[in-house]
Order: sequence, then structure tokens, then C-alpha cells
Amino acid sequence: AARNPLQPEFHQAVTEVFESLWPFIANNQKYAGQGLLERLVEPERIIIFRISWVDDKGQVQVNRGFRIQHSMAIGPYKGGLRFHPSVNLSVLKFLAFEQTFKNALTTLPMGGAKGGSDFDPKGKSQGEVMRFCQAFAAELVRHVGADTDVPAGDIGVGGREIGFLTGYIKKLTNRADCVFTGKPLHLGGSLIRPEATGYGTVYFAEEMLNEAKKSFQGMKVSISGSGNVAQYAIEKAMALGADVVTCSDSAGTVYDPEGFTPEKLAILMDIKNVQYGRVKDYAEKIGAEYLEGARPWHIPVEVALPCATQNELDENDAKALIANGVVCVAEGANMPSTIEAAKAFEAAGVLFAPGKASNAGGVATSGLEMSQNAARLAWPRQEVDQRLFQIMRGIHQACLEYGRREDGSISYIQGANVAGFVKVADAMIAQGVV
Ligand code: NDP
Repeated sequence: AARNPLQPEFHQAVTEVFESLWPFIANNQKYAGQGLLERLVEPERIIIFRISWVDDKGQVQVNRGFRIQHSMAIGPYKGGLRFHPSVNLSVLKFLAFEQTFKNALTTLPMGGAKGGSDFDPKGKSQGEVMRFCQAFAAELVRHVGADTDVPAGDIGVGGREIGFLTGYIKKLTNRADCVFTGKPLHLGGSLIRPEATGYGTVYFAEEMLNEAKKSFQGMKVSISGSGNVAQYAIEKAMALGADVVTCSDSAGTVYDPEGFTPEKLAILMDIKNVQYGRVKDYAEKIGAEYLEGARPWHIPVEVALPCATQNELDENDAKALIANGVVCVAEGANMPSTIEAAKAFEAAGVLFAPGKASNAGGVATSGLEMSQNAARLAWPRQEVDQRLFQIMRGIHQACLEYGRREDGSISYIQGANVAGFVKVADAMIAQGVV
């Protein structure tokens, strides 16, 4: 804490991982005495830069840009870019730290990174977003590359922004390598990449439920968020027979006891992805209840999938979900549950998956996009989906291998943290102290 003051999210992520690793390392001396943990809390490189651009009124705007290159131990740096006013060093360091273990869990050769800016895309014109992306790319170009660092999207960065970034980096480098993933399809993007994080989260939750002799069929599900991850989690949960009764954004929650239908989801996607609107508009359009300022967690459900942002589900929310009989919580977002909330779920015997396991489908499919680009091929939708499903199943198996408690129950927190660590640590040991 003294070395990294004022970085609460980073401390939180490190605490959660290290609480799993200390007992494991004590029992596995191979990993002791090599400075592994000391090295893993220090990103390999942090780049912070100024982004100046001109808005539609001709005013000069200045934002701060970041890239945290956390670990290259098992492959090129890899992790998304986030454009949101809450972006700061602490948030991006926590995300880059988590990303390293998550990427290891996918079994694909990708190191860990994260980046972004405090730029707020809300209310900006198309031209402003494009000029901002170009100014961001003008600096980022020095630090990224197909075999060095391959960013992708995250909050506030979707296909549109990745398209602008890709176009500008091509212009500057005169090369068409795979510098970004999450590209629109006609720029070399992969089928299923937009769906991958949401689908993957639901595939993972279905594996957890199956392991406990249950399934999504007939389950009542609450989902937070209404962006990329939430939309496709809603779609896949519905396809598996669940009733999804909520979605949300930072201003409020929509509660629809009758549940989503494909028609309602198409309306939500149009409002969010085409009109850049709010879930309040969606509630009005379909005639559902809108709970201003509320989060979805006090509505009784059997499965909860937090898919919005970090620390959006605290201990009180967890207690409300537990009291209402929740059986499974799988994180679609990164660290949406506070440490206390996660502990409350595990103590109550709720099946609880941390994001680094359950939301790894997005980066896994980014890895598949890199493979397709390198091979100059585009795999069919079904093939990518099948590979995604197998990767999620493999991560679930890894969690069972490292997370089974003496009484036979499973700690997915322990399983994911240790399985991810083992892969990164073995690679670090093999490469010596560098
Ligand atoms: P989007 O920008 O598409 O959507 C984000 C959603 O979260 C929006 O509904 C947004 O509402 C809401 N949100 C953002 N900030 C807050 C806040 N402070 N309080 C409440 N709600 C908030 O992002 P994604 O769907 O891509 O990302 C969602 C989460 O999933 C993030 O944690 C991200 O790191 C994680 N993730 C994403 C992956 C991907 O492939 N996209 C991969 C793995 C993890 P509003 O419009 O009001 O801001």
C-alpha cells in the first residue's frame, strides 16, 4: 500500500488473488523464494500520455491516456481499452493484473495488459469520437503491434472505436497486421467476438449449474448492465430457457417480471447500440418498471450475472440475493463484487465465479481472432462458437482441479486464482529473472 498509494481497486484485486495464493505456495515450495508475487504486483511497463484533440466547437480538449503492459510471460500483452471518466491508474492496474491470470486460464498464448482514457464518449458526436480515437492512436502506435501488444475493446470501446483506431494505425504504419481485436467483421474481425464475453459467461454458469445437477432451464435471472457483455448474456441465457428479468445502466434498473424475449432484446440493442440511448428509454418503450438509481440485486432471482462494472455488488446486495434464494452468481464484468460480497456468497454455499474465469470468453475469442488474422482465414460462426464453448469448459475444469475443498465443494475463486497463477508462474520460472 505504501508503494502504490491511492490505488484501492488495485489493492482489492491483489488482495483477492494473494489470499488464494499464500496457502497454495506454502504447500508448493517450487513457487516460493523466486520473487514471483513481488514481480507480479509490478507491471512490466506503464505508459501515461496526453491526448489533445479538437471538439465540434473548435475547443481544444485534453484527456489522459494509459497503457499498462502487465506481463509478457506467456505471450504478447493483451487486454482491452476502456473510455470512461472513472478511468485512472488504480482501475487500469487492477484490470491489467486480473487480465494476466485470465489470459493464462484461456490456455492461449497471451500476456496481460489494459489501457484506456478518462474520455467520456457519452454525448460526443461521431466526428468527436473519431478525432479522439485518432489522437489516442497517434501515441499508442509506438507501443503496440501484432507480436508486442494487441489491445481490444472494453467499457466505452466497441466496434466503432476499434474501427477508428485500426484505420489510423494502418495509416501511420502502412501495415495491416492484427494490432487490435474486436474489429468489425469487414476489417478482419472474428465472428462471435461481439457475443463472446456474454455467451462465455453463460456457458460457464451453465457448467457450474450442471456440476450441481441444475441448469438455466426455467431459472429466473438478473443481469446488470446493458452494454456488450449484458446484451449477449441476456441472449444466451434466454436461449438456454431462463427468464431474464432485469437490465440496467449507471442511472437505474429495468425490472420486467415477464422476462426478456428476442423482440425485446432487439429493442434494447437498437436503443443502446444505434441510438446510444439509456435503459430508461427501453423501459418506456416496452412498458416495464424503471427503478431510478437502483441496482438489480434486491429483486428475487436464482441466478445473478453482474455485467456492468467493478464494485457494483456489495455485501448488502449479496445478503439480499442470498436471502432471496440465489444459487449461482457468475461475473460477466471485471470485479463487480466487492471482496466482502464474494466471501458472503461462498460462505452461504452459493456457486460463485470470479470474472477472471467466467468472463474470459471475450479475450479467448480475441485470441482466436489473432489466429485467424495470422493465418489469413475467417472461420465460420459455428466453429468459433464451438471453440469458445470448449475453452469455457476447460476453464471450468481447471477451477475444479485447483478449487475443490476437502468437503468436496468448489471454491471457484481459489480454483481460478491458482490455475491462472500456475501457468504464469511456470512460464516466469522457465525464463529466469527478467
Ligand atoms: P459497455 O460499455 O458495452 O457497457 C457497460 C455497461 O455498464 C453499460 O450498461 C454502462 O452503463 C454500465 N456501467 C458503466 N459504468 C458504470 C457504473 N459506474 N455504474 C453502473 N453501471 C455502469 O462495456 P462492456 O459490456 O464491454 O463491459 C462491461 C464489463 O465487462 C466491464 O467490467 C468490462 O471490463 C467487462 N468485460 C468486457 C469484455 C468485453 O469483451 N467487452 C471482456 C471481459 C470483461 P452506462 O451507459 O450508464 O455507463
